[in-house]
Amino acid sequence: MNRMILKAPCVNLKTLQVLFIEMTAQNCNLKCKHCYIEFKDKKVKDYIQIDKIKQALNCINKEELKYITLTGAEPMMHPDFNQILRLCLKTSSVIINTNALNINDKKARFLRKVEEENDLGHEIIFMISIDNYDEKENDLLRGRGSFRKSIHAIQSLVKYDFNPIITIVNYNNEDETLLKSKFKELCASINFETSDINYKIIPLIEKGKRNNLPDDLDYDKLNLDCTTSRTLTINGVFTCPLLSSDNRGKCGSDFNDFSKKNYLETEYCSQCAGYNKKLFSFEL
Ligand code: SF4
Repeated sequence: MNRMILKAPCVNLKTLQVLFIEMTAQNCNLKCKHCYIEFKDKKVKDYIQIDKIKQALNCINKEELKYITLTGAEPMMHPDFNQILRLCLKTSSVIINTNALNINDKKARFLRKVEEENDLGHEIIFMISIDNYDEKENDLLRGRGSFRKSIHAIQSLVKYDFNPIITIVNYNNEDETLLKSKFKELCASINFETSDINYKIIPLIEKGKRNNLPDDLDYDKLNLDCTTSRTLTINGVFTCPLLSSDNRGKCGSDFNDFSKKNYLETEYCSQCAGYNKKLFSFEL
């Protein structure tokens, strides 16, 4: 019998430029409508251990590493967040992917001090999630009060000389230029002068939706997170933050021995590869 075996397309990790650290998979102070995380009803203490991070930092090839990104759910909810931040700053600049609900003037002042303690010139960069320039629309997606809190956090960070980046999930598929100009107006209204570098717009990735990829897609040339990064979680090393709770995204148990190959077999991959855009990495 002639059996055809269908194999998912594959991409390879070229160089490790970004290390994502998933600080917690389930703890977040918001429950956004469109979040890719499947939250369980019961809270779990799933915070990554510092030793696991230390071990990863000892093993990875740092030559091409541009920065480390702390992700979650909400990374700032990790009880040892400050210690981990200081540890990572010894290796590279650190991006914090946050909703910023935990940031006020006092915290921003403290974070400024932490950055200045570091004599290697490594920076702390904030990527703050706000999904709409309109308070009401944003809060429908992200929860009541979240807009105001995130905006206050931005004001505090700017006060202490940080230059935050706003991460926008383009939920309504608006024209990107228009979207940016609306956000620029919003930021100008709080005396935060921004340019294009302050915005990262990402498409909505939907649970359970599988896209047909174009026949002529050149998988070797795709510009995806999984070609330049890996994600460290409490359960091992994964191809990207989207797949950190899906065993199909698992590349190994630690950075001593992990796979550089990645088969794009999930629904998320079918959408992400079609967009051909790094959803989590930021070009510094
Ligand atoms: S979801 Fe995207 S970045 Fe993640 S493994 Fe699939 S193709 Fe790569």
